[in-house]
Amino acid sequence: MLPSCVNECVGRLHNGEKLSSANVTADLKSAIRNEAIRRARKAVADFKNGAAKKLPTFRSSLGISINNQNWNSVEKNGRWHIAFTSNTGKKALPVHESADVKTFFPFLTKDNREFRGTMALLRKGRDWYAAIPIQTSSDLQDKTIIEADCTSVGVDLGLRHVAVLSEPISGKRQFFSGKEIGYIRRHFRSLRRSLGQKKAPRAIERTGKKESRWMNDYNRKLANDIVDFARQFDSPLIKLEQLDAIRTTCRSQKRADRTIHSWAFYQLKQFIKERAAKFGIPVVDIDPYQTSQACFRCGHAEKANRQKEKFSCRQCGHTNHADLNAAANIAARTSLAV
Ligand SMILES: [Zn+2]
Repeated sequence: MLPSCVNECVGRLHNGEKLSSANVTADLKSAIRNEAIRRARKAVADFKNGAAKKLPTFRSSLGISINNQNWNSVEKNGRWHIAFTSNTGKKALPVHESADVKTFFPFLTKDNREFRGTMALLRKGRDWYAAIPIQTSSDLQDKTIIEADCTSVGVDLGLRHVAVLSEPISGKRQFFSGKEIGYIRRHFRSLRRSLGQKKAPRAIERTGKKESRWMNDYNRKLANDIVDFARQFDSPLIKLEQLDAIRTTCRSQKRADRTIHSWAFYQLKQFIKERAAKFGIPVVDIDPYQTSQACFRCGHAEKANRQKEKFSCRQCGHTNHADLNAAANIAARTSLAV
C-alpha cells in the first residue's frame, strides 16, 4: 500500500502541488503518509538537481521505513519488542532475541531517541526483518591498553565546572565553566513553570524538546573540545569516572533535575567515546572512590581536604583547585576496564 502512495506523491509533487498529510488521502496513518511524502520529496529533488536521471517508480517490494520518532524498543513480560506506528495503529511485535538485540535494545527505548535512526521493515518470504541504524561508540575495549605507555588525561565532570581536564605530568589543564549550562537550564525551567501556570502542555513539550536539542549540541561541542585537548599528547588515554558516581554526586539537585543530569552526563560520555574513537584514542572508566577528597601529592584522603572549590591537604599542605585535584587523581588512577 505504501509504494502506491509514494508514487502518487511523486507525481503530484512533480506537478508542482504542495503536499501535507492532510491532502494525501491514502488510507494510512498520518505518520506513514508523512513518510511517503518525505520519500517522494527526496525523489523529486534528486531528479530536479540531476542526482537521479529519471523520476523513480517505487515497487511493491519497497521496505517500509519508519522515522525514529515512530518506533522504539519496548520490554514486555521480559521479552524485547519493537513498537511502531503502522496503518492499523500502534503495534508492538516480539523480536528474535539475538545477542545484538540484548545488547542494544535497552538503549532504543522511547526516551532514547538520540541513538536510533529510521528503521526499515523488510519482508523476505514469510519473515520480516527490521534494519535499524544505531549510534554506538566504536569498540576499543577489545584492544589491550598498556596504561604505562599512554599519556593519561583525567576528566572530572561536575556542575560548577562541567568539565575539568588534567594531564598531571605536563601540568596542562583546561576548565569548562558550568555557568552557561546552569543559566540555560534555569531559563528553560522557569519557562516551563510559567507555561504550566498557563496550562499549556504542548508548549511545555516543545520547550522540553528545545532544551534537549540545546543540550545535545552543547554536549557534542564539549566532547569535541575534550578530545581535542587529549590529542595534543602522545598516545593519549582519556579517563572518566564511572557514571553511577556522577549521579550520586549531584546531591543538591532536585529529583527530576537529577535524572536529566545523569542523562546529560551519559550522553556526554557517549559523545566523548565516539569522537575519541575517530582518532583511535581509548576511553576508560575509573573507580571514582574519593577522587575529590584524596590529595594528588601525598594521597591522604579526608573530607575536610575539600572546601567547595578549594583543595587544601590536611596532611602535606598541598593546595589546588578542588576540581583540578580531582581530575589529576582520575588521570593517575588505573582503569576498571579490561
Ligand atoms: Zn597531601
